[in-house]
Amino acid sequence: MNMADNLSVVTKPVVEPVCTVGPDQACKHSLVNTELNEFLYIYEELVRSRFSAITNTLKTLSIYQHELDFVTRAQRIAFDQLHYELPLSLLEDSWISGLNLRALHSYCIFRSFKECVAKASFDQASWRERIALHTSFIHACGYHTVNISSCADGRLQGLLSYILRLVPSDAIYVKSYAGAMFNIEENIADWAHRELERLSGGLPGNEDKNYLKIAVYHYSSSNPAHQGCAAHGSDTKKACKSALGRLNELRAAINNTYGRGAAPDILLIGVDTDIDSIRVHFPDANGDIYSDRYIDSGDIYQKSLGMTQEAARAYIADALSKIESQNGKNQKKEKMATGMRNLVLGLVEANLSQIEFVIQYHAGRYRVIGHNERFICAGESMKELYLRNKYYFAHLNTVEEAAVDLDVGIKIFTNLNIKHGLAIPILVHYHYSSHVPGSRNRTIRRCRRVKAAIEARYSQLYEKGFLNCQIAISDKAGSERCTFIEDETKEAVH
Ligand code: ZN
Repeated sequence: MNMADNLSVVTKPVVEPVCTVGPDQACKHSLVNTELNEFLYIYEELVRSRFSAITNTLKTLSIYQHELDFVTRAQRIAFDQLHYELPLSLLEDSWISGLNLRALHSYCIFRSFKECVAKASFDQASWRERIALHTSFIHACGYHTVNISSCADGRLQGLLSYILRLVPSDAIYVKSYAGAMFNIEENIADWAHRELERLSGGLPGNEDKNYLKIAVYHYSSSNPAHQGCAAHGSDTKKACKSALGRLNELRAAINNTYGRGAAPDILLIGVDTDIDSIRVHFPDANGDIYSDRYIDSGDIYQKSLGMTQEAARAYIADALSKIESQNGKNQKKEKMATGMRNLVLGLVEANLSQIEFVIQYHAGRYRVIGHNERFICAGESMKELYLRNKYYFAHLNTVEEAAVDLDVGIKIFTNLNIKHGLAIPILVHYHYSSHVPGSRNRTIRRCRRVKAAIEARYSQLYEKGFLNCQIAISDKAGSERCTFIEDETKEAVH
């Protein structure tokens, strides 16, 4: 596999988008929520602006770095353009050795991210209340918890709110791994923890409901051999089969350990990251999934465009039934359960809005179909920000275990940042629980261990100043979010 080819940012699309707006074509599907799309676009632009202002701000600072009143002037410029001030330690000595723009750039990336997290509930209020699939819908389909493992690829970071149109909540977990190759043991522990909560009355009203595990792989329709999943060599079939293999292993592991029938339901979803359409690989009555049997929302969008809402819904249900009874070796199998069927129909219908979002606001296909992330997040993700290509997320407990995920991230950023002289910003983030005595301090120590391990693994980059790690913690039981924790040596100095 040629990794360099995989990661090129500029690519020419070779196939037509799902629908192109033109004089005779409006591309307006009756099942699309255009008002929700507008609010999602406003939010996307707001978040984007917090990051895109960084480069010009730093260029301006670099012009004034030798002026007498530089520090005051720099803070004013930063506040005007970025709405926060910069650390004095990065400004004060600029007259001697010049501004450390690399360190300032990383600081601003982290700080802008923190801004997005801090203002999330205000920024997101407009679309959260309008979003299609609320947790009540998940419950109505028979599930108390949905645990999603997607690829760590930044193009999937908008998965929850944009692509799947699900409201982030305590019942929905997202953990990313390179190539969606999630850790089986950790998933057994997550499942057991949640089932224990249900059985001990911690999920009132959901005592009779089930646990759903979803794996999400991805591919690129316009440049499949180069812009697909880097972890699987841009091989769509391999990405799909590997994710399905993991789901089946998880089921087998839980059935073998806790008795047949204990395993959670599973669902496999493929995302075309050029246009954000989805393929939902739905199960049969036994819960088995087949890689060649799926419903494609892009196909549904095209074929049901121009229909009334009622007709389009009937068309989707009919299409699903046809695929269910016609495709592949499993055609004689019994049909999936009603709850799962409603979930699949709900996901396909909700995704039509995302397809049209890309048509209306991104000319039918994202301009940058490859990587364009701003930083790497290592550890645990935050529910406060889900947006395409903002960061490469590697879920990890230890650097040793997740070395592959991090290596892929470092390769992506070698192309995105180091090639241009910028450092790679890595945010090491974990949650603690203020309900658990000593948890905050233990989490800080854990962050420091992970940070040291990252700096040791990529020591050549670190020593040259091309790696900037920032530690941050959040309280899952209280209100503290994304607090930056400084190094012990830095803390001692201040
Ligand atoms: Zn991937």
